[in-house]
This record gives sequence, structure tokens and C-alpha cells, in this order.
Amino acid sequence: MKIGIIGAGQLGRMLALAGYPLGLRFVFLDQSSDAPGGQVGRIIPGAFDDGAKLAELADEVDVVTFDVENVPVAAVEPIASKKTFLPPVKALGASQDRLHEKTLFQQLKIPTPPFAAVDSIEDLHAAVEKIGLPGVLKTRRLGYDGRGQFYLRKPADIEAAWQALGTVPLIYEGFVDFSREVSIIGVRSTSGETLFYPLSANTHSQGILRYSIAPYRNASLQKQAETYMRRLLKHLDYAGVLTIEFFVKGGKLIANEMAPRVHNSGHWTIEGAQTSQFENHVRAILGLPLGSTRANGHSAMMNFIGTIPELGNILRVSGVHFHSYGKEPRPNRKLGHCTINAPSPAARDRALQQLLKLKM
Ligand code: AMP
Repeated sequence: MKIGIIGAGQLGRMLALAGYPLGLRFVFLDQSSDAPGGQVGRIIPGAFDDGAKLAELADEVDVVTFDVENVPVAAVEPIASKKTFLPPVKALGASQDRLHEKTLFQQLKIPTPPFAAVDSIEDLHAAVEKIGLPGVLKTRRLGYDGRGQFYLRKPADIEAAWQALGTVPLIYEGFVDFSREVSIIGVRSTSGETLFYPLSANTHSQGILRYSIAPYRNASLQKQAETYMRRLLKHLDYAGVLTIEFFVKGGKLIANEMAPRVHNSGHWTIEGAQTSQFENHVRAILGLPLGSTRANGHSAMMNFIGTIPELGNILRVSGVHFHSYGKEPRPNRKLGHCTINAPSPAARDRALQQLLKLKM
């Protein structure tokens, strides 16, 4: 069996690395010929909206999937009507627009921060009036890792926020004074078999994930997250891995966003779970039996953003697993990550502290 992956980023590379031991083959589509996937498979050079290149990819594989959610729906619809394309196009569409995504959460009774669509400065004034301050103005589309966001703390910020972002459709959200951020990764196969990973607790800075610890054990939150995840998987007639990121406030979950793909907060599953999110994604889209999502011990995952410390200094941390994506260093770019898998939460936290002190 051969899988075509739209996008050859680190997620695509890790999907292929997980699939090779199962005897699967992979080919990527990406406009950058030196994207990380190119280290482990052939890249068909082309843009995500290039119909001819998408058709070329689809023609040579059994199933098409993607490692980015910015793949234009209109461009992939023609291949999705001829080839198995998973996760489904409607999941891709729902996740691309923050307004649609939050409206879907609301429809499925998944709690969200209060939100309002903003298409003019008048809308923004009205949204701030209705929802209050502080709040976050975000671009509806193409925002990730904190890009396209403006925090409003006082009325005078309204004008500045509009100046910064006002050229595209926007959404204003109430600021959630959360105690923690967590995410759940669920996987559903084409046969309907569904499994959930334990929650991961995530620490962001400037909108970018810095590190995660997992499993984050909290039976009540795990149950809430699985309930919401199950609703989404069923509603979207989903196959593959799906991620939902939540804020935790007063013991309750508030959904921030979903990603119809493997996720950075699930990288710990490579060494820290019986089956990684990457392997389960390929199993799910091929209709193969899923692997156990149970955690082995206690894991922490830390991203290397912008720079990577000297290799020897990383590998000196006892038990560390290092993944370099082979990307050119650039500010705010995820260049690699490392995972620690320890027998106790205390040992994990000690190792994480060591990692956090690594000189970048
Ligand atoms: P996003 O791109 O929506 O995932 O936002 C990136 C990060 O910004 C989140 O993980 C939070 O740390 C923070 N953030 C986004 N939206 C809100 C909000 N409504 N309230 C508080 N923090 C937020």
C-alpha cells in the first residue's frame, strides 16, 4: 500500500517513519523540495492548490492524507471524489476557519470562549461591547502558532488591533483566564474503531507550544475531553487522528481549536505510548486494527524553536530521545523536539528541568 501525503513537513516525515515498518510506502507533495519529508521519501514539487500536481500524487497512491490543514478544500475536492482522501474534506474545511470551527463546537455543545465574527471596525466595537475585555482578535484563516493574533486589554487597543489585522475576516474571542492548557488526541479508523490517548498538558509561549507533559492524569477532564472528541469524530464521519486543544478553567474544558491531523502535543507518543499517533493515523486511514494508546511511564516533550542546542549537550541528558527535522534555523520555526520517558512523574519533571536549561 502507498500513501500520498500533502505536505512534507516534520509531521509528514514522522508519518512515513512510522509507516515504513508496516511495509507501507509514501510520496509527498510540497512546494519546497528540501522539506523534512524529502529526507525519507520523494517529494512531488508543487503548491497545495495545484490541481495537476494533486492529481499526479493521487494517481500513484492508494490513499491521500495531509500533514497541514491549510490545504485548499476546493483544490482537493476533485481528488477526494476519485481516491480515498482521509481525514475527510469536511473536517479539513471545518478546521480552516476559526469562526466555522467554533460554530461547529457550539452546535455539538462543546464549550468555547465567547466569540463574534468581525468584518469591520464597527463589528469590533460591538464585539468588545458584548464580550468584554480582555480579549483576542484573531484572523479566521491561516493563523497558527500565535500568528495573526492581537490581544486587547483596554479600549484604546481596539484601533491598534484593527490596524494590525483589519484587512481579512476576523474573530474576536473573550480571553480565557485558564489554569492550564491540555489537548486530547483521538483516532478513529474507517471501521469505526475509536481510541483516545491520555491528555497532554501543554505550555505555550507567544502562541507557540514550548513543552508538553503526558499523561496528564485527571479522570474528570479526560472524560470530558473524550466525550467532546467522540462527538466530533462521529459528526465528521472521521478517519485518522484528530486533536482538540482546550483551556482548563474551574475544572471544566473550553475548546480552543481542533486540528484534523497528528499534532505537536502528541509527539511524546513516539516513545511514550504503546502505539504512536503517527502509526495509528496510518492504521486508521487504511482501515487496519488500531494499536493501543496506553502510555508507557511518564513523558515530557520539548520543542526546539528557532535554534537547536549543541547535539552533545542534548544527548548528555540521560534517556533523551532527539528528533531533528533538518530545517534551516529561523526565528519561531520548529526545528526539532526531544522526549523524555521516565518511570515516575518526579523523574520526568527533573529531566524536563534539565532540558529547559539547555543553552539554545
Ligand atoms: P491558537 O493559535 O488559537 O491556538 O492560540 C495559541 C495560544 O494563544 C493558545 O494555546 C493560548 O495559549 C493563547 N490563546 C489563544 N486564544 C486564547 C483565548 N481566547 N484566551 C486565552 N489565551 C488564548
